[in-house]
Amino acid sequence: MAAVKIVIPTALRQYVGNLDAVEVDAKNVKEALDDLVDRFDLLRRHLYADDGDLRNFVNVYVNEEDIRYLGKDATPLHEGDTISIVPSIAGGSFSLMDRLVAKRKDVAGGLGVPLTQYLSAAGVGRLGIVDFDVIDETNLQRQVLYGTKDVGRKKIDVAKERVAQINPNVDVQTHETRLTSENALDILRDYDVVIDGTDNFPTRYLVNDATVLLKKPNVYGSIFRFEGQASVFFAAKGPCYRCLYAEPPPPGLVPSCAEGGVLGVLPGIVGSIQACEAIKLLLGKGDTLIGRLLVFDALRMKFRELKLRKNPECPVCGTNPTIKELIDYEEFCGLRGPSEQVGEEFQISADQLKEKLDAGQAPVLLDVREPTEWEIARLDKAILMPVAQVAARVNELSTADEIVVYCKTGARSGRITNFLRELGFRKVKNLIGGIDEWAEKIEPEMPRY
Ligand SMILES: [Zn+2]
Repeated sequence: MAAVKIVIPTALRQYVGNLDAVEVDAKNVKEALDDLVDRFDLLRRHLYADDGDLRNFVNVYVNEEDIRYLGKDATPLHEGDTISIVPSIAGGSFSLMDRLVAKRKDVAGGLGVPLTQYLSAAGVGRLGIVDFDVIDETNLQRQVLYGTKDVGRKKIDVAKERVAQINPNVDVQTHETRLTSENALDILRDYDVVIDGTDNFPTRYLVNDATVLLKKPNVYGSIFRFEGQASVFFAAKGPCYRCLYAEPPPPGLVPSCAEGGVLGVLPGIVGSIQACEAIKLLLGKGDTLIGRLLVFDALRMKFRELKLRKNPECPVCGTNPTIKELIDYEEFCGLRGPSEQVGEEFQISADQLKEKLDAGQAPVLLDVREPTEWEIARLDKAILMPVAQVAARVNELSTADEIVVYCKTGARSGRITNFLRELGFRKVKNLIGGIDEWAEKIEPEMPRY
């Protein structure tokens, strides 16, 4: 037995009582992780799939080494070792709500700002910016290129003006578009270095695959609340992003965090690291982050470094790649949105629910409507958890309980039922026809709207 420390990433701390590290005694990695999830059961489904295997979007390191290249979960531990759990993070906008509305923002946000400032000040010849977003008041806390009078203007227009003030010799190319599988190769082909400052999985995988196909370096950065990551992916000389994480996590399994929850200075630090790496790549100088993942914890003010290896089985840069052209990344990341269509076995009618209640077998009633609707009418003893809050509050629910989800008509609750099932809730059902049908059939005195 060896006393070891397990470092918990920011994204998973809410499942371990907000601890940033947990001490365990264990012989090997499996014992250590078993001990961890035995003590913090909520963490279990974030680390393990139903078949008991570690999820493939969670990488585990012992000291600096990825256990996939050591002895996997049989990797022996020694006194004082540090185990790091490193899930893939998208940058903070990975919520159920984003998934339902498929909202995506691209580059000229948090990380794009320091990149634009330092690269133009350094005098890069040509700077391309891909973005289609408009400046919002809530951006100003971290996007310090923009001021209050810029609110409502396009980010790329303001960025172009600012670059001209910093260094009029820089040729700024603005691409006012969402980067897609159709346009990515054409846009990125003309540049020597690609810098990924996006905040969502579809664009992250798109940029990765496009840069592998174009044989260009991809300077990676991502942020989540108080934690940042940076690396340089360059398949010609080292691993790519897919070597780390072949697939993204299923939507909802990575905890969400509104972008407003990002510490404002964090993108400044991570974006500056990316700018530094880009300049080194352009100059061919120094040791870049190729093959290294830099993990920065702003709260503890610690940098850690993990070794990245090229995965020979990588689907895009491995020895037998299966991805040879750009694919549909929204579909790949499961962002088409959970369907409203719920299988028959996961439906419950108003009559059946009434029978259960009368028999004293009350399930947990989950009301996913808005507070204004809740004020009009609700089922007795229901819990109010509006759709947008479900991903963040899912820990208030237990997989052991029988749960009936309802909304007004059964559509929103159908999506939430499917969403919860994906998260491992086996005993969840959707109330057919919602509270409206309940009022019609069971409680005629209930106000309808
Ligand atoms: Zn790869």
